Amino acid sequence: MAFCSCDGPTRSSVPTYPVRFEVNTKTVFIDFTPQNLNAYITLDRDGYKENGVWKLPATAMDAWGYGGVVLYVSMVGYAAFDLACPHCAAQGRRSPCEMDGIYAVCPDCGEEYEVASGYGFPRKGISKEAMLRLNTYVTASGDIIQVRQ
Ligand SMILES: [Zn+2]
Repeated sequence: MAFCSCDGPTRSSVPTYPVRFEVNTKTVFIDFTPQNLNAYITLDRDGYKENGVWKLPATAMDAWGYGGVVLYVSMVGYAAFDLACPHCAAQGRRSPCEMDGIYAVCPDCGEEYEVASGYGFPRKGISKEAMLRLNTYVTASGDIIQVRQ
């Protein structure tokens, strides 16, 4: 059994693409326990990065949404977002945000999204939309975090 932290259907300008990958907190290179706030892992077609350091290629089974995915140890637990900027997605541009500390920053419009809060709200107000939040599941043992959409 897995515990679901789901917010239900989310309306977003970011197109819904499949997301599927998991992180094993026992074998991951960084401390990815819920106590280690602001640790993060990103995934795109090039593979996994942990706090910005490239670690592993994505596997054939992985899917990483529209603009890549960040899985973040936020103030409200594990939170995952599609890295595509919703403001730019509404205008037909993919524009993946790049992680910069506790923010995901859009290199296209300059918006900064607050991923550390667990909600992905825009900080500057350029975007009127939060990032697309993805479903995360933690196994009962707490060792495996799955991100699926
Ligand atoms: Zn943008």
